[in-house]
Amino acid sequence: MADEIYFDNNATTRVLPEVVEAMVPFLTELYGNPSSIHRFGSQVGERISEARAQVAALIGAGDPVEVIFTGSGTEGDNAAIRGMLEAQPGKRHIVTTQVEHPAVLGLCQHLERKGYRVTWMGVNEDGALDLDELRAALTDDTAVVSIMWANNETGVIFPIEQIGAMVRSKGIPFHVDAVQAAGKLSICVKDLPVDLLTLSAHKFYAPKGVGALYVRRGITFSPFMIGGHQERNRRPGTENVAAIIGMGKAAEIALARFADDSVRIAKLRDLLETLLLESCPGSRVNGRVQNRLPNTSNISFRYLEGESILVLLDQQGICASTGSACTAGSSEPSHVLRAMKVPADWLQGAVRFSLGRFNTEEEIRYVNEKLPSIVQRLQGLSSLGKLGPQQRSKPERSGAGTFGARG
Ligand code: PLP
Repeated sequence: MADEIYFDNNATTRVLPEVVEAMVPFLTELYGNPSSIHRFGSQVGERISEARAQVAALIGAGDPVEVIFTGSGTEGDNAAIRGMLEAQPGKRHIVTTQVEHPAVLGLCQHLERKGYRVTWMGVNEDGALDLDELRAALTDDTAVVSIMWANNETGVIFPIEQIGAMVRSKGIPFHVDAVQAAGKLSICVKDLPVDLLTLSAHKFYAPKGVGALYVRRGITFSPFMIGGHQERNRRPGTENVAAIIGMGKAAEIALARFADDSVRIAKLRDLLETLLLESCPGSRVNGRVQNRLPNTSNISFRYLEGESILVLLDQQGICASTGSACTAGSSEPSHVLRAMKVPADWLQGAVRFSLGRFNTEEEIRYVNEKLPSIVQRLQGLSSLGKLGPQQRSKPERSGAGTFGARG
């Protein structure tokens, strides 16, 4: 068993050796600028085209030209939403959800402050959307609908095809943040009513700092960054060549392996949940629905603080995450779990286990050996556990509020 047991694959993944190998020549001898006319540069340009085709294949794009390389998933989300607003200056309304990643949530909050109107769709206790709410939200003033494919904290999957059909029937551009879906689920954009789709390479075993935005042919897209002519004028800036090559290689591998990997990983995730729910009294799974990413489990431990659990897990060599970040030393409960109306007793004690290709059953059993005593120890220390129910309940916040999800 590895020294470090890594259950934080929604935050980032290990770069595959094959991916590193594919990248190395572009950090050493193949250093030409892909925009150069001479052959030393243009051969690099050709390799970028291959990587574009590999990424297009992963998401089932009809034409590789529809894939624009970006610097991250965050950039892709920004480019998509800002691009749609810029292209339709007369429209001032955006529809999104309360459970998006900060890349979308933070941008939409910013745009709201700038005078755009934002409809923040809620979710139910399972983390599911109400499509009637979406239908009612769409107006002639709606410039873009931006909804994630799968939630990074709970793994809950949204019905993208149904949502897209509804949005398309109104002629509104539909953007999907597929950062957590790519490499884990089957995606075929050419058969879907999706106009823009964001990817991030480091979620599927490629390096950080590179992503892609799919923009369907025929969609008018205005880039928010202004500069050179790279990426057909849609994303200026000299390409991060080695990272793009790595993303292409990882996309090729993901396409070949994700179906088998997903079955194996889902079995491990289910085993983890079964064991932990049994061995840790006062635990529950958040968003335990059929439609969930195969690798993600969000488990709450009643009355406890997720961060304390993480610190003790870390001492045992186990890396997980709370799914919510600390702001200035005080831990904010997850905006996703708040939107799901997770009761106050369970809200702070959430731990996200996100599995990946390298995890084994032995590691799952090791976590189940270590975690129950950690939980017991913290429950013994927790004053919250000894208080009456009224004293325990903290006031719920409403709306999207502050946020800071990791990965
Ligand atoms: N969207 C989702 C759903 C994510 O999980 C993440 C990253 O965790 C992002 C966007 C941002 O991607 P990046 O880290 O490449 O900026």
